[in-house]
Parts: sequence; structure tokens; C-alpha cells
Amino acid sequence: MAATTYDAIIIGTGQAGPTLAVRLAGAGMKAAIVERKLFGGTCVNNGCIPTKALIASAHAAHIARRAAEYGVAIDGSIAIDMKKVKERKDAIVRRSSEGLENWLKSTENLTVYEGHARFEDAHRVRVNNELIEADKFFINVGARANVPPMPGLGQVRYLTNSSMMDVDFLPEHLIIVGGSYVGLEFGQMYRRFGSEVTVVEMGPRLIHREDEDVSQAVQEILENEGINIRLNAECIAMEKHGDKVAINLDCSSGDKKVLGSHLLLAVGRVPNTNDLGLENTGITVDQRGYIQVDDQLRTNVPGIYALGDCNGRGAFTHTSYNDYEIVAANLLDNDARRVSDRITAYALYIDPPLGRAGMTEGQVRKSGRKALLGTRPMTRVGRAVEKGETQGFMKILVDGETKEILGASLLGVECDEVIHSILDVMYAKAPYTVIQRAMHIHPTVSELIPTMLGELAPLDAKKGQPGA
Ligand SMILES: Cc1cc2nc3c(=O)[nH]c(=O)nc-3n(C[C@H](O)[C@H](O)[C@H](O)COP(=O)(O)OP(=O)(O)OC[C@H]3O[C@@H](n4cnc5c(N)ncnc54)[C@H](O)[C@@H]3O)c2cc1C
Repeated sequence: MAATTYDAIIIGTGQAGPTLAVRLAGAGMKAAIVERKLFGGTCVNNGCIPTKALIASAHAAHIARRAAEYGVAIDGSIAIDMKKVKERKDAIVRRSSEGLENWLKSTENLTVYEGHARFEDAHRVRVNNELIEADKFFINVGARANVPPMPGLGQVRYLTNSSMMDVDFLPEHLIIVGGSYVGLEFGQMYRRFGSEVTVVEMGPRLIHREDEDVSQAVQEILENEGINIRLNAECIAMEKHGDKVAINLDCSSGDKKVLGSHLLLAVGRVPNTNDLGLENTGITVDQRGYIQVDDQLRTNVPGIYALGDCNGRGAFTHTSYNDYEIVAANLLDNDARRVSDRITAYALYIDPPLGRAGMTEGQVRKSGRKALLGTRPMTRVGRAVEKGETQGFMKILVDGETKEILGASLLGVECDEVIHSILDVMYAKAPYTVIQRAMHIHPTVSELIPTMLGELAPLDAKKGQPGA
């Protein structure tokens, strides 16, 4: 069968592929993009956008329950209509996904294929029964929920972040295996909707990549809302128990069995690279299936690039989009942008959120450099007090010699936004004194960042509680 020839083929419509496809087509290339399922991939359909829409509903419920604290009387009980919650989420997702699909389908020079793409060799891909070929490929196939072979998992029904999107009822007791970013967002959300929630984590603390004081503060926030947290659950096993699911735990304390109505697995992600025919191309993947790329996102096979979660260089929408920017800059703008230019940045969208930039305190300590630390509990942030949202704390680390900011962990109301003032100064490689001397607006959470920077102390002298 003769192949249709393109200048460039993009596989996957995640957070890098679509914009890159439109850029390449706009630059005069004959381009094609292939999507096997939902336009917009994880972020749009079962990741960032729907979870943040659901979190907004959960937040509304939470504030409604706290209304009396603000002097607001609600006559009657607070009820959650899960069908409406899902409808609202679906409408937001639909707008985004359909908007993207229409954009791609109406772009000149760009052909959209709907089907699973599989490499026949390093220049040809089969989609459905068609062969398409190009000298340039951009792989943006993303990742999916990891389903590890846990004992008993085959006997029980379980949910992942994808199937959670179809839930339009209130689980009586949601057990979440995995105490990291995805699990905690769903956990707080469903607790606020009214479910009993138990988070089961194998490790000794939640979100283990963060500093211990951050993990501890997040645990307290969740426990204050009545979420059960079971740590050190080393030997997790599932069991069918009538119409319920039982999780057997080997925790150092607490019951050895938890009985729930529903089970959500949130134990990491695996790249969608096992069914892409990569073995026919010679592209190198690591042991976990992530495609190996260089600093400009080139694989070891000339002309083939990998962007987004499938390259293991990031696991966020903004890292995937930044991958697009790097590839486009190098290919079209003669601008040698690189992955290593970027600074770690992300948020955990529990309420209050955690905004992160750069190194953790643990990483700074390990690096052995002379550093300064500034901290402030949210109870000493006027705007947080006025809003009645004083949980959490902020901390920032500065290089004692260069005065550059090394990292920050901001856990508190609005901190997913506040972190950007720190991030931008880090990108500017400017000393922290730039923020310290900037006049910030009152009353905001951001106005306390200069104050915190004015109270830096040597990291080695740190004692006591977070934010103390
Ligand atoms: C519950 C959850 C919440 C999240 N929240 C956030 C957040 O708040 N902020 C954030 O930055 N990130 C968040 N993320 C991560 C974020 O969703 C991903 O990092 C982001 O979607 C980037 O993905 P991507 O561009 O690599 O590809 P994806 O978005 O995963 O898209 C890949 C696309 O490729 C398609 N595809 C795969 N294989 C083939 C094939 N062989 N042929 C054709 N098409 C194929 C898939 O169908 C899919 O549409 C969240 C993730 C989850 C699971």
C-alpha cells in the first residue's frame, strides 16, 4: 500500500502536539496529527481541567458548610448533587476538547487522523489501515494510570483518574491507594462532597518528594477535614467483601483491614509507549518505557522527537507545553532553547494549595551549600486571616553567597499564584533583594514575601516547627 507523505507527523494531541502541529503547518510544512481517543489528552479530559473543575465544586461545598463562621446563615442543609457536579465538569471539558478539535481540523496544511498510530519503521506509521510517512516525527503520546500487580487486585473493581471522570454519585467510603498529588486532590475533593475517605500510602509520609514539614502540614490539613490517612502500608492486598472492597494493610498502627465502597488507584503513571511500535524504529527507551531524549528533545533516531510526559523529563501540562516551545524555537526560530534551562515548578491543588519552585530544603541541605532560610506561618499573613484561611506556611531558600533564590515551598491560600513572583526572579537570576525591595500590594499574600525575605536566617540554625 502506498504511503501518504508529509513533512511532519505528530502523534498524540496532548499539551505539546497540537500547538506544534499548527506552528509547523503555519510555517508551510505539510503536517499530520494523529489522535487515538480524546482531543486534548490527559490534561483536558481526565487530568488538570476536570479535577480543578471538580475541586471548585468541592470548595463551594466546603465554604457553604463554613458559612456561619463568616456570619452567613444558610437556611437548610448543604446537599451535593453529584450529577450536576459532573455535568458542570463535563461542560468545561467539552468546551476545551471540542475547541481544540475544531482548531486542528480547520488549520490549513494540517491533516487530522483519528486512530491508533504505530510505527512500521523510523519513517512510516500505520493509522487504522492507512500508511503515512515523514522525515520528522513528534511523539506526544503522554501517560496513563499505573496499575501495578497488587495482590487481589484482579478480584475487585477499582477506579483510576480516568474512570473517576464518569462518577456521578457519591461513594460512601472511597479508599485511595497512593498518598501523592493525584490521590490527595481526589481525597480532599470527595471528602468535601461528603464521602468517607481513607488514603493508604506505602511510605512513611504523604507526598514524599516534598520536605517533611510540608508533608506533615498537608497531612494535618487533610486530617482536620476528617480524612483517614494510613501510612507505612507496606503490604497492601485487596479482597472482595460482598459488594464492598477490603484493603488489607500491614501498617505499624491502626486496623489491619479497611472496608470501603470504592477503590481509587493513584500510584503513579506509565508512559503510553508500549504499543507505539518503537521496537521497529530503534528509539531508545529506559527501563520504565520513557523515551530517552537530549536537551532539545531529540531521540537517538534522527528526525524523531519526544515531547511531554512520555519522555520522563516532566509530568505536567506546563512541562509538556514548554517542550513544544523548546522544539519550535530550535526548529523554526533559530533559538537554542533547552530543557535544562527550566526551573522546577508545580502546584498541589489541595486547599490551601502548595506552590513549589526550585529546590526543596532537603535538596539544598544535600547540596551542602551555605544557604539562608525564611519562613512564615499563614497565621501571620493578614490576607489569610481576613479570608479565614490560615492553614499552612511559606518557606524560601536563598544562596548565602550569590543571594539567588534556590527554591520555595508555599503552602497556603493563593500560593499557587504567589509562587510565580518568586519563580520569575529565579528565571531572571536576580538576587532575592529585588523582591525584598519591591513594593507589593496590600492586602495580599504576596506582600509578605518581601517581609519573609527580610527575616532570613542561616539554614543550619533552623529549629522547631514549620514556619516557626
Ligand atoms: C488526575 C490528574 C491531574 C493532573 N493535574 C495537573 C495539574 O493540575 N497541572 C499540571 O500541570 N498537570 C497535571 N496533570 C498532568 C498533566 O495532565 C499531564 O502532564 C499533561 O496532560 C501532559 O501530557 P502530554 O502532553 O504528555 O500528553 P497527554 O495529555 O497524556 O496526551 C497524549 C495523547 O496522546 C494520545 N495517544 C497516545 N498514544 C497514541 C497513539 N499510539 N496513537 C495516537 N494517539 C495516541 C492519547 O490518546 C492522548 O490524547 C494531572 C494528571 C492527572 C492524571
